[in-house]
This record gives sequence, C-alpha cells and structure tokens, in this order.
Amino acid sequence: MFDRAILHMDLDSFFVSVECLKNSSFLGKPLIIGGSSSRGVVASCSYEARRFGVHSAMPVKMALRLCPQAIVLRGDMDSYSKHSRLVTDIIADDAPAYEKSSIDEFYIDLSGMDQHFGCYKWSKELRQRIIQESGLPISFGLSVNKLVSKIGTGESKPNGTKEIAKGVEKDFLSPLSVKKIPGIGKETYKKLSFMGVRQIKTLSTIPMKLLQREFGKNGRRLWEKANAIDNSPIVPYSEQKSMSKERTFIEDTLNLRYIRNMLLKMVDELAYELRATEKLTSCVTVKIRYADFNTYTKQRRIPYSSNETVLVRHICELFDGLNERRQLIRLIGVKFSGLVSGSYQISLFDDTTKAIALMKEKDHIRNRYGTDKIMWASYMNEKSRSPS
Ligand SMILES: [Mg+2]
Repeated sequence: MFDRAILHMDLDSFFVSVECLKNSSFLGKPLIIGGSSSRGVVASCSYEARRFGVHSAMPVKMALRLCPQAIVLRGDMDSYSKHSRLVTDIIADDAPAYEKSSIDEFYIDLSGMDQHFGCYKWSKELRQRIIQESGLPISFGLSVNKLVSKIGTGESKPNGTKEIAKGVEKDFLSPLSVKKIPGIGKETYKKLSFMGVRQIKTLSTIPMKLLQREFGKNGRRLWEKANAIDNSPIVPYSEQKSMSKERTFIEDTLNLRYIRNMLLKMVDELAYELRATEKLTSCVTVKIRYADFNTYTKQRRIPYSSNETVLVRHICELFDGLNERRQLIRLIGVKFSGLVSGSYQISLFDDTTKAIALMKEKDHIRNRYGTDKIMWASYMNEKSRSPS
C-alpha cells in the first residue's frame, strides 16, 4: 500500500475568532460565547478566558466567577455558518478530496501528491489563502493518517502548523496525555487514570487483549490509537449522509392540521437522531406529493442546528410556501442534509441550562424506552383521529 498523506485543518477558537473579526476591540480580551441569561452555558471561549480556567459547557455564572472581567456574547450561528461556508468554499476550490467533519474542521486527502515536502508546502499555501481570504486563524497537522494529523493540529495551536513525518508517529504521540486521543471520554479517561495510565506511551505498551478485556469492543480501537494506527478514509463532503423521513397517507388528505402534526413528528424524530449521532444540519428540504402524483420539493440553507424548535419553524415555513395547490396530498417528506459533526449545545446560545437539560432528558427517555414514547402534545391529541 502506498503512503497516505492526510491534512487536518481546524479554525482556532472559531466562534471567538469570528466575533473578533466583527469587532476588533475584542482582540486579546477574555471572551465568552454562550447563553446571555444568568443560567446560560459557555459554548466557546477565547484563549485569554481559558487561562482563568473557563471552558465550554460550563455555566456562564461559574465562568464569570473565575473571570469577572470577561465579555459575554450571545452566539450568532448565522454569522458562524456564513464564515464556515466561506472557508469550505476555499478548500473545495483547491483540495482534491476533502471531508468537512465539523463546522470548523476539515480533512483533506493529499495522498499521491509527489513528495511529502510537496504536501507540506501545499498545505501551508492553502492555510495562507484561508487566513488571507477569511481573516480567520487556522492551524493544521499533516501526517499519514487522520488520527495523528488531528492530534498534530491540537499540538500546533494556536495559529500553527505541524508536520509529523512518516515513521515518527509513535514518537510524536508517546509523551502526550491520553486525554489528547480523540474519542476518549470522561469514563475511559477515569478508568485509565485508575489503571495508572496517563501517557499515550504507557497505553501503547498495554497488550491489546488486556484492553479488550477492560474496555470491550472499544479496547482494540484504543490500542490502535495509542499505537498511531488509523486506516479510516476521508469521507468526501458530497457523500456525507443526509437523513430523511417520508410518510404516505393511507388516504389522500387535505387536513392541514393533521399534515402539520405529521411534519412536526418527523422533524422531532430526525432532530433526535441528529443529536444522538452528534450531528448538525445546514440544509432542510420538504417534499409534497399530491394525489395526482405530481411531486414538489423546496429546500433552504439554514444556520447549523439540531434544535427541533428551530428546525420545525423552517420546515413549516417551507411547507406553507410549497403547498399552494388546494389538492389532496398523498405523501409528505422531510430531509436534513449538509450534515457535519457537532454538539447541539452550540446551536442553543440563547437557551438556558434548564432548556438544554430538558432536551437531554427527553433524549434520555427515548434512549431508554424507544422513540415513540415521547412526542409533541399536539401530535398526541391528533393521534387518535383519522385523516379526513
Ligand atoms: Mg476549532
């Protein structure tokens, strides 16, 4: 097998950088982006705020106790999505194949580009172009696989570059904390700490069998990661999955209340799926098929979200704009596309910890008891009736 060359790029404290671009007086100041109310949570914060111990997912109230002089801003997902798309367009222009793995993160497959030197030079030029055209700081890591490159990016931040040459991947990972391995959650970290494993080097020397016994099916992946092994491919942006639902009515219907409730239910289920897989959508589509089989669709680009309240609003607006014929409807459908990875907290800037807790609780009930155990009250009222 020929050597791969995988570039990982990540915009530095992306939301904060966009805010500084809009208002340069924020530069160099401790900045917190999150819910504006007293019960909001931190979605992102500047390096200056991090120095005080502030981190994301922390209640804003607590963050302000650690860093009283911090400036708190409510997030502006519209603006972040716009900047994210601008950077995506620059990469799409230049890169042979790329994967957008989150709103501010990209993998680019440079395999086959002549020499490793060529790849590094190419990467530096792309980075310069992004900085020049978007005004946003971005860092990158370059190596033979996604895992090592991503960790490399982390080590190069802020505003840096890191090349890990073929053959030294393990040396590069060895001294780092196991915390730096992507996908190691709190539980795994706790367990490893308990086993006395803090450095990747230590983890890499534990026999795979032992890790499998301790961590089940994740044990093998853990061993591979510690040993800098990662064969996962780049998933091109155009092939990134969308998710959709369709419903054909038993009888063609004109009952708009019934149809709207059905849309609500589909959005609710899809939004749950987004959150369960930690994804955000940036494009929503509604489909209507009439009794005469004529089919119409309408789509809209939206700021990245997995919040059903936001998504329901877009879907209902699209539906109302699309449904102009006074004809019986045979089928309706909803599709979310342009998916990227991302936690739903970032789409909830104006929500309080309580609102997030409520959504989490709802998801939790579904995880335990199945997706049909929780639904909108309006749908429930409608459920026993038949369409007319
Ligand atoms: Mg970033």
